[in-house]
Amino acid sequence: MNNVIREQFPILQQEINGHPLVYLDSAATSQKPRVVIEALQHYYERDNANVHRGVHTLGSRATDAYEGAREKVAKFIHARSTQEIIFTRGTTTALNMIASSYARSVCGEGDEIVLTPMEHHSNLIPWQQVAKATGATLKYIALQPDGSVDLAEVEKVVTARTKIVAIGYVSNVMGVVNPVKKIAEIAHRNGAIIVVDGAQSTPHMAVDVQDLDCDFYAFSGHKMCGPTGIGVLYGKKALLEAMEPVEFGGEMIDDVGLYESNWKELPWKFEGGTPIIAGAVGLAAAIDFLEEVGMDNIERHERKLAAYAMDRLSEIEGITLYGPRHREVGLVTFNLAEVHPHDVATVLDASGIAIRAGHHCCQPLMRWLEVNSTARASFYLYNTENDVDRLVSALIQTKEYFGDAT
Ligand code: PLP
Repeated sequence: MNNVIREQFPILQQEINGHPLVYLDSAATSQKPRVVIEALQHYYERDNANVHRGVHTLGSRATDAYEGAREKVAKFIHARSTQEIIFTRGTTTALNMIASSYARSVCGEGDEIVLTPMEHHSNLIPWQQVAKATGATLKYIALQPDGSVDLAEVEKVVTARTKIVAIGYVSNVMGVVNPVKKIAEIAHRNGAIIVVDGAQSTPHMAVDVQDLDCDFYAFSGHKMCGPTGIGVLYGKKALLEAMEPVEFGGEMIDDVGLYESNWKELPWKFEGGTPIIAGAVGLAAAIDFLEEVGMDNIERHERKLAAYAMDRLSEIEGITLYGPRHREVGLVTFNLAEVHPHDVATVLDASGIAIRAGHHCCQPLMRWLEVNSTARASFYLYNTENDVDRLVSALIQTKEYFGDAT
């Protein structure tokens, strides 16, 4: 990875507060390459129409583009068929769909839903709501001292009472890749299904849903060079077929009577209303872009950068680094001595460096770490060692500044 990639991201070619922008907040949302921006523009300038309806030329172009995007997504995550790919607004919407349709129909009193304390709120609150509505119980896999998941703990918690195991493939705070394939085996052995939150894995590594043998998998386009407002729910066909739609209205019906209606086949029964056509087109362009760079290259680049960042950051006196020392993804979470992470992020912004500060939508994990908030720098294919060096120098200056002030 080098400056050739960086040059393809127009937004990165600017100065912020008089300094060249260093964008280290890709776990929140990634930047977009020119090809994605152009694909959106091309779609709106040339092909825009509603899908699955019009017999006119633009209607078929838009439908081809939208359904072509579905095929691209299916291949990208190795789904068996396009029927297993539902376009949603993002990971949050996808997880809520599983919770409000599948989970509510299978869970009852005495059943258990298994999570970890490191889940993003989007993979936690929907399950709390299911538990409240159905009488099911939530159970948590205890984390190891470094924040990773040990399979022995999974074996202890997942039992014949478990109906659903819901887990993030990659933590947006700890920078760990959870052993999802092995957890899927344990879930299935106990008669449960596994739901994987792929928000932080899909942008950064090759994903094969068949190899993982996950039952549902959710991710967002905006974290992987695509536009906001588009995401994907993958589900095994048999499970999706048995599931009731979540939204009812236009587009998702086969036949409507005054008192009864029935639904289209998969995947359209889950896509009520005018779908996110331009979003899907943008996501397809993002997938083309990522595949051209190569997911393996992206993963390797980020691991190297994260290892470099861990080494350089640990040189700073008074820094606390969270999560395992060995990084598997491009993400580092830390606190700087007594300086509040919001102050750290504000001072860094003055040097043109964008990082994230807060609870990262993981309040239970913050409690587990015994902090209110942390700072987080997250990397993507456009970041370089120079960005890490700028981060480290700015953190040293921040520490000196606050050290002098106190
Ligand atoms: N899960 C994880 C691990 C995340 O990091 C995020 C976003 O930060 C989400 C879920 C929610 O994604 P979205 O806001 O795109 O729905």
